[in-house]
Formats: sequence, C-alpha cells, structure tokens
Amino acid sequence: MKYKFFVFIFLVILVLLFYPITFITEFSGTVRIYCSGMFRYFYFSDKQTSFSQGVGFFYKEFLYDDYAVLNTENSIFRINRCDNAVQIQKEKETAYVFVSKDYLSFTSEDTSFVSNKKWLAEEAKDINDYFRGKVIFPSKMFVIYANIPRSFHISPYVIFVNSIKDMIHEFNHYTFGYYIKDGVSDTWAEILCETNTLLYLKKKYPMLYESELELKSIGFYPQEYGSKVMDFYKKFNCEEIKIFSFEKALIDSQKKMNDKVFYSLLGSE
Ligand SMILES: [Zn+2]
Repeated sequence: MKYKFFVFIFLVILVLLFYPITFITEFSGTVRIYCSGMFRYFYFSDKQTSFSQGVGFFYKEFLYDDYAVLNTENSIFRINRCDNAVQIQKEKETAYVFVSKDYLSFTSEDTSFVSNKKWLAEEAKDINDYFRGKVIFPSKMFVIYANIPRSFHISPYVIFVNSIKDMIHEFNHYTFGYYIKDGVSDTWAEILCETNTLLYLKKKYPMLYESELELKSIGFYPQEYGSKVMDFYKKFNCEEIKIFSFEKALIDSQKKMNDKVFYSLLGSE
C-alpha cells in the first residue's frame, strides 16, 4: 500500500516537472515567477538596453522601475496575479507588459493611444485619420517611448519606439504580423509596414519622406527595409490607393501568410 502511494507521489512530481504549473506575480516593480518545473524566459525592462533570456527552475525574480516585458513559455496551467499589467501573455508569441502607475500619462484625442510622451500621443490623431478604414485598427495601443536602438511591437497592444517614424511602422504591425500572422523568417510584414510608413510620411512630413526614399535607394537599410520596399512601392507607382487596395485584399483573405504566398499574390497584380 505504502509502495503504491510513493509511486503515485513520484508520478505526480514527474508530471509537475514536465508539465509545470506556473504562478506569475507582479507588484510594485517586482515580477516573480514560481514554477513547478523548468521555464524559459525573455525579459526586458527600463533597467536594460536589450532583451535578456535564459532558463529558470522553480523561481526567478525581476525588477523594473517604469516598464518591463516578460515572455515565458506557456504552461498548461498558469495563474497570474499582476497589479500593473497592461497586457497578459496568452500565446507563445505575445508577452506580459508591466507599466508602473501613471507612467503612460498622455492620452490621444480618441483615447485609443496612451503614451509616456505627449508628442507621440498627439501624433495618434493624425494616424487615426490616415489609417482608419485602411488597416485593422486596434481598440487600444500602449506607445512607450524608450531610448533603444531598435523599435519593436509586443503583440497585440504594446509598441516600444524611439521616433514618430518607428511609431507608424510598429503600429502597422498590429495588422501585418499580428492580425495576419507571419513566420520568423518572413519579410513581407516589414515591407508593408515600411511602405505604409512612407505613405504617411509623404502626406505629413514631406522632407522626411524624401530623405527616407534616398536612404532606401542607396542601400542604407537591410533589403526588407530598403530595396524590397522600393520594389514594392514602385510596382504600385507609389500610389496609396493602389497599395491600400492590395493590402485590403490581403486583410480580407489571409490569416497567416508566408513570403511565398505574398510574392505569388503580388505577382498576379
Ligand atoms: Zn517591423
């Protein structure tokens, strides 16, 4: 009888190790992971300049002042107790985002964007006016200005940016990358986000637009931000009506797309 009991306990421990239960808490600047087994994590906060990653066993603690991002592998069973989460990780590709209270104190005119910078929240009105009805508009967007070398989107609702130009690009990733999913090695989402950024710059910041065209043409950027964008842009004669109608067709027909499908659809244009 005793023997069976110990085998049972052993099996339970084994199951918990390989199919762990994870408990994630966050409270005034401290994020804690409690786990019955192993977990992988990616972490970023205002205390560091790039993502750190690693493997943890049973417990791990992270600190932040203003904001933090945590991606941890999904457990079958996960419990969250988070005070300052503006977003909870629900899928493997998304992440928790924690922002300290009152840090995002600026709200856009239509209240869908909040930011830690007034000039970014103000830009949101023009973004609204320009893109509404053309791409998928998120119900809310948290725009965090950070002094980082590269801007990025934590899908679905958070973007980290270091300029207005990047804000437009990352905003478009809600449609191209999240609403229509892409693969890790695909470039089509970058091409479309960058093209839409060009269209917006052309309308509102003509000087910036001209210098972007120049940089893209002289090979300043990697191809998916430079020459491939110019090829796509020129194929549609740089006309926004044609570009948005191609994108609309993608939005209506694709849920997940790779470069092969993208280029075959582009070829039939
Ligand atoms: Zn991008």
